[in-house]
Formats: sequence, C-alpha cells, structure tokens
Amino acid sequence: MKKKSIAEAKGKASQRKIPDTRPRGKVIADTPMMSVHKGPRGKDNIERERANKRAFDKKKPVFQTIKNADQTVKPAIVKKRNGSYIKEKAQKDDLSDSIKQDSQYSRGLIEASLDPLFVISIKGEITDLNNASARIIERPREHIIGTNFTKYFTEPEKARDGYREVFANGFVSDYPLTIKDGKLTPTLFNGSVYKDNSGNVLGAVVVARVITEQKRFEKELTEARISAEKATAIAEEAQNKAESATRTANNAVKAKQQFLSNMSHEIRTPMNAIIGFTKVVLKTELNATQKEYLTAIKISGDALIVLINDILDLAKVDAGKMTFEQMPFRMSLSISAMLHVFETKIQEKNLQLIRDFDARIPEVLLGDPVRLHQVILNLVSNAVKFTSKGSITVSVRLKYEDDEKVTIEFSVRDTGIGISAEKIKTIFEIFQQASSETSRIFGGTGLGLAIVKQLVETQGGSIRVKSKLGVGSTFSIFMDFLKTDSSTILEYEIKEPDREIKNIKVLVVEDMELNQLLMKTLLDEFGFEREIAENGKIAIEKLRKQPFDIVLMDLQMPEMNGFETTEYIRNSMHSQIPIIALTADVTSVDLAKCKAVGMNDYIAKPVDERLLYSKIVGLVKKPIITKNKVGIGNTPNLKVTQKCIDLDYLNNRTKSNPELMMEMIELYLKQTPPLVSAMNRSLENKDWSSLYTAVHKLIPSFLIMGINSDFETMARKVLEYSKTQEQSDGIPDLVLHLANICTQACRELEIEFNTIKKNMK
Ligand code: ADP
Repeated sequence: MKKKSIAEAKGKASQRKIPDTRPRGKVIADTPMMSVHKGPRGKDNIERERANKRAFDKKKPVFQTIKNADQTVKPAIVKKRNGSYIKEKAQKDDLSDSIKQDSQYSRGLIEASLDPLFVISIKGEITDLNNASARIIERPREHIIGTNFTKYFTEPEKARDGYREVFANGFVSDYPLTIKDGKLTPTLFNGSVYKDNSGNVLGAVVVARVITEQKRFEKELTEARISAEKATAIAEEAQNKAESATRTANNAVKAKQQFLSNMSHEIRTPMNAIIGFTKVVLKTELNATQKEYLTAIKISGDALIVLINDILDLAKVDAGKMTFEQMPFRMSLSISAMLHVFETKIQEKNLQLIRDFDARIPEVLLGDPVRLHQVILNLVSNAVKFTSKGSITVSVRLKYEDDEKVTIEFSVRDTGIGISAEKIKTIFEIFQQASSETSRIFGGTGLGLAIVKQLVETQGGSIRVKSKLGVGSTFSIFMDFLKTDSSTILEYEIKEPDREIKNIKVLVVEDMELNQLLMKTLLDEFGFEREIAENGKIAIEKLRKQPFDIVLMDLQMPEMNGFETTEYIRNSMHSQIPIIALTADVTSVDLAKCKAVGMNDYIAKPVDERLLYSKIVGLVKKPIITKNKVGIGNTPNLKVTQKCIDLDYLNNRTKSNPELMMEMIELYLKQTPPLVSAMNRSLENKDWSSLYTAVHKLIPSFLIMGINSDFETMARKVLEYSKTQEQSDGIPDLVLHLANICTQACRELEIEFNTIKKNMK
C-alpha cells in the first residue's frame, strides 16, 4: 500500500510543484551529509546557504546539525563566519520551520553528490535530481522532474531494466548506462530503494558515476593491447620472413656450391683434356713455333685451372667447408721445393732470391703442407710479379717452441713497387687490387690475398703486411704446427716415379672419351696394363671377370656414378681393391663423400701425371688395411703397413731358410694366378666342378702364406656350393673377393721374394 508523502499530507512544503518524496527516518544513500541552518528564509539564510555551498565545495562544512529519529533538533554549536559562537534553541513546535528545514536538509544531501543523482518513483518518473544531473542532461531541472527516467539514456530499455532491478532487488550496483547528452557520457549507476517508517518502498535513489576517464583509459588500454597484438603479429611475420630468408639464403648457398661444383666439373673436364693432350703433344717432336704455341696453350690452361681452384677455394671457405689435413711433412723440403718453381722466373727478371731458413725448426711437423704451399706460393708469386729490380727474401723463422708445438713466422720481402697506405687496407678483400691499372699491367684477379688470409686465419694463424710505395713490401704469416716423431713415415710426400714398377693393372672408370684417351696415354706411358669402363655397371662386370690392382674412378657418370659404384664394390662385392677418385670437383662436400663410401684417395683433374703415378704406386705397393697386424717385411715403406699375408708360418716351416722360403713363394706365385683365372672362368660358365677343383687347390695356400682364416671359410662356402648348388647367396661376390685377396697376396709375396733375394746377396 502506497503511503502518502509528507509533502502531500502537509500541503505545499515548498514552492515546487512536485511531489515531495523525501525520506522519513533514515535515508539510505551513500551521499555525503550536509545540513542547513534552521531559521527564517531571508537574506541571512540565503547568505548562509551560499556559505554552506562554498564550504561544501571545499569539503569543509560550516554548519552542522545532528538530527535524531523523532525529528527534534538538538541545540547545536554553530560556528559563525566571524569566529564567535552562539547558541540557538530549536523551536520544537514550529512545524513550518521544521518542514523547511527538512526540505533544505534533503536538498543539501542531494546536492552533496558531485555525481549525477536521480530520485525515481516506482513508476520510473524522476521526482528529484541534483544540479550535476541537470548539467549533464543539459536541461533545467524543472523540465526534467516528472519525466521518465529512461528517456535520458541511449538505451532506454536497458535503463528501464536497471531501475526495475533496483525495485526488485533493493539495489543495483555498477549498472552501465550511457547518458544521451552531447558527449554520450558513459556512467555506472549505483542505486537503492528508500522506504518509509513502515518499510514501504517509496522510490529509488540512483547515483551515476561518470566513467568517461575510465572508458578512455579502457579504450587506450584496448588500443594499446591491439597495437601490442599487431606489433607481435608484425614481429612474428618478420621472424617468419627472416626464417624464410635464412632458408632461402641457405638454399642459395647450397645452390651456389652445387653450381660451382657442376661448373668446375664442366670446365675442368675439357681443361683436363686440353692440358693433358698439350703435355702429351709437347713430348713429341715439334718445331720451335709449334712448341711455342703449345706452351702458350698449356700456360693459359694452367692459369684457368688456378682461377677455378681459387674460386672454389673461396666458396669452400665461405661455406665453412674448407678442411685442413694434419699430416707429417718436412718443412724445409716443402719450402725449397716450392721456391724451385720460381727460380726460372726470378732469373729471367734478374732478381736475387734470398732464402733464410731457421735451422732450429724441427725437421718433420704436423700440418697441411698443400695449404701452406698455396699460401707461400701466392705471396712469392706476388713478390715476383710486383718487383722489377732488387731481391726477394723468403725467411722461415722459429718464433716459439714448447713440447707440443712451434710457432713459425714466414715472411716474404720484396723491393718492388710497394702498396699505398690507403690501398693496403683493402688488398685482403676479394677482387681488390691496389690500383685499377694492376690487372692490365700485372694481370691477376685480386683473389690471391683474400684466399691466403682465409687459409691462414681459418687455421688459427695471422697475417700482416708492411709496405712503402716505391720501396717494397713484406708479408708476414704466423702459424702454429704440432710437433711429431720425425721417424713418422711421410706417406703423402710425392715420390719421384720409380719407373721400375710396371706390372700394375688399372681399371679406369670414366665416361668422357677424351679423358679415357688421356688416361690410356698416361697409363701406357707408365707401362701399366689398363682397361676402360664407361660407367660403374661396366666396371663391376669387369671386376667380376678379372683381377685388377687398382681402380681410377670418375665421380659423375651416367647409369651408375662413382660413389654408387664404390659403395657396391665395398659393401656388396666385399672388395678392398684400392680406388682413387678422379674428381673435377674438389669441394670438400664431395671429398668427404669419397671417404665415406670407402675410396682410398682422390686426384683432381687435370691429372698431374707425377702425382697420379705416385698415388697408384703408393696404394698398390702398400695395399689395403684388412687387419690390424704389423707385417714382417723389411722394406722401410712397408714398416707400418698392414698386409694380407703373414710369413710366420712359412718362417717356422722353413726355419727361416731363405732359399726354401723363396722356393715356396715362387711356387705360390706360379700356381695362384692360373687358379684365380680358372675360378673366375668357371663361375662365368657356371661350370661348378671346375670351380670346385680350382678353389680346392687354392685352400691350402691360405694357411701357408698366413692369409686370414676368414678367406678360407669363404673358400669352403664356395666349395660347398659348387658341390650342391644350394644356397647361392653372394657366391659370385665371394669368388671375386677370393680372387682379389689372392691377387693381392701375389703382389705382396713378389715384394717379399725380392727383399729376401736382395738380403741374400
Ligand atoms: P692479384 O695478385 O691476383 O691481383 P692478390 O689478392 O694476390 O691479387 O693481390 C691483391 C693486390 O694487392 C694486387 O693486385 C696488388 O695490387 C697488391 N699486392 C699484393 N702483393 C703485392 C706486392 N708484393 N707488392 C705490391 N703490391 C702487391
């Protein structure tokens, strides 16, 4: 039941034509309290009200009354503006005053809220509001009072739901509504119902908290978050792009290497033929002009090969693929052999070559002599090129020594044209020459020093240069080398061809006809037997049919390339026949692959005939490493070589009688090759009884010549098969393996025979 308001009951409590819904008793609203001075309206009163407002604005109330529940006003101490104190007594019976006082009191409460405050009836009409509300709605309060609460919001329905919620629940908090003012002010409403003394709900008081700042802040936050998300997305995209760029770059590096590898093959292969045949023709009878022209062709070819090698070297260092050997070598020999190359040129230019080799340097050191050659060769070649009178001094000095290593300074000093201080900074960069004239006058590409620097620094060394225009230049290199036992066998030193060794049978696997012809010419000159196979498949067939001492294997071939063929020879045929790769491509990628598939060595095209001879002889004389056992041969070259034969048994049986031993060996050498041929032939003809006979005859010699018992087991397996023709698994390969081992045993026994013979004299 709706109760009548006091205003209705007591007539017009104020001049306003609005229902007075002031609370009776306790007012539930969280607005600050403010009371007004009781007394007749007049100038004083108005003045007091103004003072009160000013004071309130400063949050410091001047007047203070305490109202009790039964509406009586207790005497209060009132502070006057002049600072004196008066005591006033409330007029208990003056109802009109009391109403006025109540009205002002309520007004004060309402205005005390700096936030918009509305009093709403149960029907949703605004019954009162404060100035803050009028200001925000931008209309006089008289025009607002009596209107519907919902019309001042952008979403009237939501506003209706809001005040319904207040009446339903007794309160609402943080209810968002946007005021339909010019700025569309966002607010959060807190509201509660107010009741009469009997607890009947009279209406609701709602206070809006303007949250423009908060909204702005939220918006900024959201924007910041969106920006951050965008930035993250951009960063992720950038990262993806960077990763894809890295992938592209890596692919490009790979493609570059592949291209260089292919290109080098394409260029080197014909160059191989040009240089090789030029050399061959140069050895024939020629008149002076022909010789001159051919020499010019050879020099140009050599220069082109140097350039290709330089480019490949740089590409390798670039890709971090340059590998360095750690092998024993004689430093003094190495340097003097290299200087030998320049003697003619230095004499031609009428220069003086001064050598200064520190005698304290250990004779044998561990390092990469090939790369050291390359470095010194570049420096001396530059010194010779850029010096027209005076001298070139090559000095090799020991700078530091401890138990493990030595530090050596190599310096090349010339009295040539010198380099300007400005240009000296760039000469180690690729394609940099001291002046644009350099190439025209002196030739060169500007790659040499860049490679030298890379080679030296990658091995942990350093390079420096001092130079003065017109006076000369000194290039110094500091490098460490490990010490080693000087008795180490220097396997890699190129041996002078020992033309005595002739009985070597070589299988050349090469598809290019020109190269085939060149290899034939070279091998014929060495006095070796040779066979040519156009590809890996043909090579395997040939290896199955007859024994060879060594294979020279081209890498890039149709049908079956060099890697596949070697893999097959090693893994399926179980053959340890020495294989030298003939490679036009010296990138480390392929060299590593050569080693991985089981090749024993490689030789770069165009083939250096001296190197080819020395490598063939070296591998055939020092054959495969099949077991970790030291041989008994007296030849120094075989001191640490593992062999397939072991003469302990023969020594015991003959009590080391040399003549008897020689007789036994001779017998073996005589009977074995025909047995091996018979074995191969029988297999080819599937003549199992002949195969049985041949293998049967071979078996006893394994024990006598100390050949590993695994081979005897293999031979017995072949024997078994030739009897039963059951379990043919890998029989052709076993036969081939037996043939290889017997051929190798023959080679080794031949050497032993000659040694024993020599020792008898
Ligand atoms: P190239 O000799 O093929 O031009 P290098 O990289 O070996 O390339 O040398 C780069 C440049 O450094 C040369 O072109 C030359 O200008 C300068 N230079 C190198 N060595 C000497 C030297 N001993 N005397 C004078 N100038 C030199």
